[in-house]
Amino acid sequence: MCSKSLRRHRHRAARRQDYRCWYCTFPMWDDDPATFAQRHSLSVRLARRFRCTAEHLQARSTGGTDTPDNIVAACAHCNSTRHKRKSPPSPEVFRMQVARRMERGCWHPVPAHSAFAVSREATSMKAAAIAATGAAAPPRETAEQG
Ligand SMILES: [Zn+2]
Repeated sequence: MCSKSLRRHRHRAARRQDYRCWYCTFPMWDDDPATFAQRHSLSVRLARRFRCTAEHLQARSTGGTDTPDNIVAACAHCNSTRHKRKSPPSPEVFRMQVARRMERGCWHPVPAHSAFAVSREATSMKAAAIAATGAAAPPRETAEQG
């Protein structure tokens, strides 16, 4: 059910997002769940929800098109959860709802949160190290991707 151009847009969006879900920001895989599962110490079953999918910001059912500016890459779980709802929330609203659940560590199953929290911790430690060496630099807001 996935057209060739849609797949191309998905690839492009995924690369732009560094293969992270537009909603939950967790890493995604494109063609090999087993390697992904192994790398992050997850079960293959759990890894399946992080499959990279094309997410239409405006759903096709309401006139959204298969154009690059309407497509972001989202993990299978976020994508299907949004569109499973009776009246799907706007991408912005849904993104905020996901972010809130992510903060509490209850959007994905716990093993996924702990697997990816490790890498997030490493990232913030790196950020702290950079901040320590560049103490004179003014604090900067993290820029939104996209
Ligand atoms: Zn996601």
